[in-house]
Amino acid sequence: MFSKLKNFIYNFKYILNLHKVLIAIMIVFFLSLTWAYYSFIKTTRLTFRNVSSSEVKNVETMANIIEKNIIFTIKHHTKISRFCLRELLKVLAEDRKLKRLLNDVLSLYITKNIKYIYVVYKDRKGEYRYLIDGSLPLSERGAFRQIFVPANTRLWKRCFKEKMDVYGVQNWNEKVYGLWITYLHPILCNGKIQAVLVLDVSSGTYSKLEDILAPSRHYLNYMIMFTTIIILCIFLETMLLFGEQRKRRIDPLTGVYNRSYLRELEKTLDLKKIAVAMVDIDHFKKINDTYGHDYGDLALKNVAKQLMLYTRNYDLVIRYGGEEFLVIFRNYDGFRNKRYVKNIIRVAKRIQRKISANPVRVEDLEIKLTVSIGLDPFTYKRRTLYESITMADKALYMAKRTGRNRVIIARLRGVF
Ligand code: GH3
Ligand code: MG
Ligand code: MG
Repeated sequence: MFSKLKNFIYNFKYILNLHKVLIAIMIVFFLSLTWAYYSFIKTTRLTFRNVSSSEVKNVETMANIIEKNIIFTIKHHTKISRFCLRELLKVLAEDRKLKRLLNDVLSLYITKNIKYIYVVYKDRKGEYRYLIDGSLPLSERGAFRQIFVPANTRLWKRCFKEKMDVYGVQNWNEKVYGLWITYLHPILCNGKIQAVLVLDVSSGTYSKLEDILAPSRHYLNYMIMFTTIIILCIFLETMLLFGEQRKRRIDPLTGVYNRSYLRELEKTLDLKKIAVAMVDIDHFKKINDTYGHDYGDLALKNVAKQLMLYTRNYDLVIRYGGEEFLVIFRNYDGFRNKRYVKNIIRVAKRIQRKISANPVRVEDLEIKLTVSIGLDPFTYKRRTLYESITMADKALYMAKRTGRNRVIIARLRGVF
């Protein structure tokens, strides 16, 4: 897992180098979009909060005035001196004129902005009923004692419990009856709640605000769409380039990297953090002569596969010549440490042992082959990569001369 991540970071750095401009464009687009989106949401929320709170303040003032007016009217036309629900229900049941008058008083405050004004009480069974209703037109009025079903029961319960003005803002996806804010103002008598005066604010102001903000919203949506398309294009382009690049770097027969990739890679490799091995198949010519070129190809493929298998993910296997492979061992902590050098020698020997122990199986044929390896674990001491490769090559030559199927380690100094 960790090695895969390291490998990914390494490859990513490489892609980053190749597509600097494209990636910079992507990042700038992404950042500007995020910023614009964030600002818009923030501004919208702030605007609506400010507008709704100033609206609520206006409605609060109005509710107090309406309450006073109701009580004044009741006092003026009846013997009742306070807003006492029981007494009022009795009087209103008989006095049609007073009912009409009170409804008309509420109607006086109906504006474009305030759509409905009515007073609701709770009966003994806990049901809400209309007391008076000033809503216009008359057909929309709730009749005296008619059951009222609140849309937001929680708000109503809160009003009765806290005996304080409360309000709820409609969910705008629903836009119930073109309303925006429902304002509940409890009418008290001796500290007891008698009824609730309700003012419903229409969605007019909200809609106007929406109309003002709509162009910006559309612009932002187009920008998001546009940016997404561009990012997708860049992403596709990068993937295509990456695919092509991979093709250019990969040897079609064996599937490992080729020499042209080594030339690309050369500048980015840190000599202090790599070790180099040359792997050559022993007597490969004989294999070709005995089994034919096609079988030789299959044997080559198999060796490449085994090299991939016995090295780590972030090591590199490169087809250097016909039946010759270059393995670049990577160690992110460097090879200065003796332990790492010993470790890499162990790895090289394991590769050599494993390949000689696993014959290539093609159909019912079993082709036994061995490899000779020249390893230079002292790449960190060399001036160039090619100096290290030459040293590994010399060690390989030594391995061939001394009997093949073995690993020879290059010396730090001198020639063999
Ligand atoms: P040594 O142990 O000294 O390395 O002997 P060798 O026969 O492996 O070495 P030599 O360099 O004499 O021969 C390498 C052979 O590899 C020659 C060539 O035909 C064969 N070869 C190179 N590339 C390919 C390939 O892609 N497919 C096949 N089938 N054979 C290849
Ligand atoms: Mg050979
Ligand atoms: Mg050879």
